[in-house]
Amino acid sequence: MNNKTKLHMSTDEFRKAGYKAIDWIADYYEKIEDYPVMSQLSPNEIINNLPDNPPIKGKKFDDILKDMDLLMNGITHWQSPNFHAFFPCSTSGPGILGDLLSTGLAVNGMNWITSPSATELEIHMLDWLVKMLDLPEYFLSSSSGGGAIQDTASSSSLIALLAAREKTTKTNSNKAGCSGNLTVYTSSQAHSSIEKAVKIAGIGTDNLRLVKTNKNFAMDVEHLKQLIDKDIKDNLKPSFVSATVGTTSSTALDPVEKIGKICKDLNIWLHVDSAMAGPAAICPEFRFVNKGLTYANSYTFNPHKWMLTNFDCSIFYIQNKKYLLNALSIMPEYLKNKQSSTEQVTDLRDWGIPLGRRFRSLKLWSVINYYGVKGIQDYIRNDMHITQKLKEWINKDDRFEIIAPTPLTLICFRLKGSNDENEKLLHNINKSGSMYLSHTKLDNKYTLRFSIGTSTSSLAHVKNSWKKIFIPFKFFNYFMVFFIFYSLSKNN
Ligand code: PLP
Repeated sequence: MNNKTKLHMSTDEFRKAGYKAIDWIADYYEKIEDYPVMSQLSPNEIINNLPDNPPIKGKKFDDILKDMDLLMNGITHWQSPNFHAFFPCSTSGPGILGDLLSTGLAVNGMNWITSPSATELEIHMLDWLVKMLDLPEYFLSSSSGGGAIQDTASSSSLIALLAAREKTTKTNSNKAGCSGNLTVYTSSQAHSSIEKAVKIAGIGTDNLRLVKTNKNFAMDVEHLKQLIDKDIKDNLKPSFVSATVGTTSSTALDPVEKIGKICKDLNIWLHVDSAMAGPAAICPEFRFVNKGLTYANSYTFNPHKWMLTNFDCSIFYIQNKKYLLNALSIMPEYLKNKQSSTEQVTDLRDWGIPLGRRFRSLKLWSVINYYGVKGIQDYIRNDMHITQKLKEWINKDDRFEIIAPTPLTLICFRLKGSNDENEKLLHNINKSGSMYLSHTKLDNKYTLRFSIGTSTSSLAHVKNSWKKIFIPFKFFNYFMVFFIFYSLSKNN
């Protein structure tokens, strides 16, 4: 924005266009249910309808806003109340507006001095979260540890692994490269980001051990111990265990306490990935998700999944920040400044992969202040209640089965039939546009995932979606009974 040259949008123009953009978003939310939830487009349809070349002469913002009509055809509506596919991508009015303020300020909080508020609000919000979720005190900024916001849980897990790598190799991997004898453990149900982190950190997937899971799809601790013992015998160096609280496929809860005891005895880094499940701990009655967390060397969860905060916002905590700083600190001449050299300040550039940092804490601050702890608790409790209702409805219908425990807000269910039948059912549900579910395979069974948590969704929406799933089957059954009687009477 600049009032002095005609090249830029003036503040007055910005104000008017901004009101229109906000109106556009508000209108979108008002009519979100009119869209098919999953985009029904074929590949390249959007590209084929976009101009081949960029405009030489710029357009008015009004025209840019009109062009959104084209893009809307290719949007999958994550904020639709009938979106139940992947874990949710959180949003809320205060989340959007907090993000807008951050975008408007457009600061880069890479160092304390480049915007003290960006650094200090972030540190303070992470301290608030420790208190809100009853997390170990060593994650507080005043302790040996602390935390920082990352873009995603994938990044959080990667930097946890880098810190662990430097701890195990006494910071020699940064210098000489990774030695090839470090080993990493996670369950076969862990998120793929752990495998990716192993690749990026130079550990090598040959050194990644996938631990078996038990009947509840949680890590089998006996098997973990066997794998570690074997590696020690083979002169390898077990370095990092990633436990998951709320696995992606089924929200299984790894037994963190038991895993933690093994890690503590053998001086292995324990990372806990609680990307979706973590926010549940805001309600005292759901603090089972924190069980064993006092053994964790590092921890991550995503307010952008289940805490009304817009993507991207993943929280990362570490028990002892020295290992992270050993792994990631850099200080080129052009970043040196008086405050950093006194070590009185935190420079968050050393707490993540990129140098530049958005002012992400502003949206978190906006959300926490708007809802208060009580409001966020109400939201989580409501989602848990909706899930239990849906579970009751599914259980009442003996054509379906729920095939994994439901500790949180994901129901893994299927028709008691073949994988093909289930795949077809999912295809038809999603093709209808009335809702969007996803799938996984558990014990090799094709399984539908019905995920609750989208902030626009209510019990009535979920009830309606469930009716749409089971009623066609009811009709199909009636039709079959009628058909059998009809055939029999004809044969007589
Ligand atoms: N970990 C778990 C358990 C997840 O379920 C997911 C995504 O669903 C991730 C990590 C990856 O999250 P992100 O997209 O923030 O990297």
